[in-house]
Amino acid sequence: MARASHAILVASLAALLAGCIGSPEQPTRKPSRSSTGSSLSQSPQTRACLASLGTTRASFTPLADQYYGAGCATLGTVKLGWLQGDDGRLDISNLGPVSCPAATALQGWARFGVDRAARQILGSPLARIETMGSYSCRNVAGTSRLSAHATANAIDIAGFRLADGRRIIVANDWNSSSPQTRAFLRTIRDSACKRFGTVLTPDYNAAHRDHLHLEPGGLKSFCR
Ligand SMILES: [Zn+2]
Repeated sequence: MARASHAILVASLAALLAGCIGSPEQPTRKPSRSSTGSSLSQSPQTRACLASLGTTRASFTPLADQYYGAGCATLGTVKLGWLQGDDGRLDISNLGPVSCPAATALQGWARFGVDRAARQILGSPLARIETMGSYSCRNVAGTSRLSAHATANAIDIAGFRLADGRRIIVANDWNSSSPQTRAFLRTIRDSACKRFGTVLTPDYNAAHRDHLHLEPGGLKSFCR
């Protein structure tokens, strides 16, 4: 009993140190391996995902697994250097560790959804996707359910920089007076819905007024 209390205290402290908001929702898993980064022991699913991501020619580095307590962990994640577009690299800003499935879906969306929509609708290739990050040990806003961000399995998109220097910012431009800008954002929303299981936009609720939440997986897609 004393040991259990101690374990909970340690988990709570770890959660606080990791910037966790809210109370622990799941039993803490013990680290199963060290995270020196020198040797990566990957699951078969992660190895298959990394191989698939490698074929896209995105630049990425596999990261060692990390457990933060309170159900929060980064397992099978990568650090993306850049994404591959039709005509070269697409930069990505402010994105830390991200799950391999999320990185793979992001790569496909960036190239075949965003870059091509930017060319066709706005007349300029995409240069950079600006994010608000992925991993964050927290619950879904207003609930006691752990967010997909707590396992780095979601990405928040703040906006885009085009090769001609224009910036399209979700917070400012979702309801832009420019029909082209609005059409671009609706088009890339629709393409995200084909590649991610959950897509939340400013149309969903106030918590998403300034970004698109992209989360892979799920049996049925949830697109709002
Ligand atoms: Zn999010």
